[in-house]
Amino acid sequence: MDYYSNQITKLIEELSRLPGIGAKSAQRLAFHIINMPKEQVERLSGIMINAREQVRYCKECFTLTDQELCPICSSTKRDHQTIMVVENPRDLAAYEKTGKYEGVYHVLHGAISPMLGIGPGEIKLKELMQRLQGQVKEVIIATNSSLEGETTAMYISKLIKPTGITVSRIASGVPVGGDLEYIDEVTLLRALEGRVQL
Ligand code: ZN
Repeated sequence: MDYYSNQITKLIEELSRLPGIGAKSAQRLAFHIINMPKEQVERLSGIMINAREQVRYCKECFTLTDQELCPICSSTKRDHQTIMVVENPRDLAAYEKTGKYEGVYHVLHGAISPMLGIGPGEIKLKELMQRLQGQVKEVIIATNSSLEGETTAMYISKLIKPTGITVSRIASGVPVGGDLEYIDEVTLLRALEGRVQL
């Protein structure tokens, strides 16, 4: 890409590192940015820096938030005795979009994967077990139906069962290997409603 000036090449390179941005999109974005009014570029970069600096994990459920507690954990309208365990904040967002789930969440930030060397210690599992010391009636495991998601679900259910807390798994209907975030709301609701006790 020597035919562009050094600065443009750098911008294209950085943009193409972002997920889902190929070489062509990176080029298009770079030229778009260069043609944007300077103030708009400053605002965009400022928002990115602020988001990166201020967004942190909710101290209760570990989703991303800019408060100590996320809006779901701090809501008195939610059922704090029902915890849905998901792999990442995008899965939480998928269930929130259905508007029908009234409990709270726990975000693991990953799934157990012996192949990738991700053990139970690498995800927010210890933190989940700590939450269960409080008043919890049911834990709904909504990890993906991939091998890693199923391994994680089994591992968690074994850990929780001795505590006497109800453990359930969202129903299949969510296609095997399907990421929760790509599944439509009706399928998600059906999976939630048809959950089976483990
Ligand atoms: Zn939270």
